[in-house]
Amino acid sequence: MKIYVDAKKYCEYLKKIAKRIENSKDYVTELDSITGDGDHWANINIGFQKLAENADKLSNMKLSEMFKNIGMIIMSASGGSSGVLYGSAFIRAAKTVGDEVEMDINLLCKVYESQLEAIMERGNAKPGYKTMIDTLYPAVEKFKKALMEGKDDWEALKAFKEGAIQGMNSTKDMEAVRGRACYQANKGKGHIDPGAVTMCYQIEELVDFLCNEMI
Ligand code: ADP
Ligand code: MG
Repeated sequence: MKIYVDAKKYCEYLKKIAKRIENSKDYVTELDSITGDGDHWANINIGFQKLAENADKLSNMKLSEMFKNIGMIIMSASGGSSGVLYGSAFIRAAKTVGDEVEMDINLLCKVYESQLEAIMERGNAKPGYKTMIDTLYPAVEKFKKALMEGKDDWEALKAFKEGAIQGMNSTKDMEAVRGRACYQANKGKGHIDPGAVTMCYQIEELVDFLCNEMI
């Protein structure tokens, strides 16, 4: 079965991820209190709650317009590094989808790859720096590989999610090169990066949402 994601469907997913983020307060705040300044959950939550509030309006927009508006909402609502980084990522997604009204699996993969590039450029960071990139990079790599190998949509999405989870967990033993954790004596070693966690939630929710539809 083939998946497609238009603005309506993406906005249904936005409501789900906003709930997931809302419910992750204690864990994410604890991680950012150990490795950073403790505000990552608050930053990201306010942005996603704003998106959920605007979901109905966003769902009636052209896909590229929707992504552009998501970027602007996140950038103005969310503080911290993550607000700017996510803002750039969604504005890049708007460019990637161009005039398309829906994303098939290949375009979906390209959208995430372009978001990864935008985040790396904006934050001047690479994989291995103990950031959200360490979730997104292996996730996109696995997603691309699955598609290149001719895997079906279901398997490609599962690979995307698997890469995200592995990537998130890999941040535990990393020493931070970017983000506030790099100012800590142990550079956050021994703790998962909070931004890697919230990025993983986003990928998990999207994959679960799309795969549930296929059942
Ligand atoms: P701040 O660090 O400004 O308080 P947040 O707490 O909202 O911002 O977000 C922290 C998260 O942002 C980190 O856990 C990390 O994943 C991510 N991050 C920080 N700096 C960068 C960067 N330069 N590139 C990519 N991700 C980054
Ligand atoms: Mg912080």
